[in-house]
Amino acid sequence: MDGKILVTGGAGYIGSHAVRQLVRAGFDVIVIDNLSTGHIAAVDKKAQLVVGDVRNLALLDTIFTKNKILGVMQFAGKIIVPESVSHPLSYYDDNFSAVISILRAMRVHGVKNIVFSSTAAVYGTSKEPSIKEDAPLHPESPYGFSKLAAERLICDCEKAYGIKHCIFRYFNVAGASDDGSIGEAHPVETHLIPVTVNASITGREMQIFGNDYQTRDGTNLRDYIHVLDLADAHVLGMKMLLDGKDSAIINLGSDKGYTNKEIVETVGEVTGIPVKWKYGPRRPGDADSIVASNERAKALLGWAPKRDLKQMIQDDVNWRKKHPKLYGKQGNKFSKEDKKHILFYNDSRHYLSFYEDIEAADREKAKKIKIANNL
Ligand code: UDP
Repeated sequence: MDGKILVTGGAGYIGSHAVRQLVRAGFDVIVIDNLSTGHIAAVDKKAQLVVGDVRNLALLDTIFTKNKILGVMQFAGKIIVPESVSHPLSYYDDNFSAVISILRAMRVHGVKNIVFSSTAAVYGTSKEPSIKEDAPLHPESPYGFSKLAAERLICDCEKAYGIKHCIFRYFNVAGASDDGSIGEAHPVETHLIPVTVNASITGREMQIFGNDYQTRDGTNLRDYIHVLDLADAHVLGMKMLLDGKDSAIINLGSDKGYTNKEIVETVGEVTGIPVKWKYGPRRPGDADSIVASNERAKALLGWAPKRDLKQMIQDDVNWRKKHPKLYGKQGNKFSKEDKKHILFYNDSRHYLSFYEDIEAADREKAKKIKIANNL
């Protein structure tokens, strides 16, 4: 196909898997990522990587001018519910301001297709056993609200500028690539499956947050989906838009829920090492139960998840066993050969939201990015 797909946040967990599946499907891919949580090593070498920030309109203008962009996949953003409760400014900046920038660039350069990564957190707690896309929207955290605001803006931009969208509302994503070469690697891991896998591998105790929710065993119930199934859906979503089909908002889930306690037990079964755990207090912002109806994904994309919970856990285990230090120090290092696919844009650090939300950890990260940028 004559043209490229621009993937924002393509060095992150979900973005890097989508980049790989796009490359496998024959797309020419360009990635923009500020490496605030992403890793150079996660980006497929067949893609071009621009290290910079999506909020940088001048940088976006250069990218859109120099490349024929057919469509954008927007992954860049923050995803931790409790962190969003304590740092709403960062969340609205990363999840909403960044979308304003990308849409501005798309409008100016006449790019008409966006695949957007949204979340089931826009629904909040639902009384329905499985949530449909037209369910009421009641986010319960700044994270959910920031994504809902971005969704709304994207829909308004279709009416005003004819920019078509495929908005995906994800449920809980887990797993890793089939060869264990890329996977979930956050500086501080907060997601249930990797936390539990780590607890099982290391023998350290973990906590299940809350046991007085309205679910079958009192612990939160979530719908888990394999990151490769999710990535495949993104490729299909982009193809749907490029084929001239209508915009859509689509859940990506399995229509099946597991409680936190069931997840902990299943991890023990897969690894063969029972997990040490205890109940802890409720975590702020958690909804009782979230399960997706995936009827629309089946109807519009012909998509259904192919990989089950045990596969997700097994792939996460494989990735962690192969990479005990995750991407480690190599994560943002690169060889001369690699450098051919990387373009550093030195101003990216100015756009990181830690200038508004100053935290020691973020300052450390800033230093590292500065070092990476000066290499
Ligand atoms: N959770 C837990 N212990 C942990 C991490 C998460 O009990 O160490 C719970 C969390 O409270 C929620 C569920 O696991 O009920 C899924 O949380 P996660 O952060 O993985 O994803 P979220 O649903 O917030 O997107």
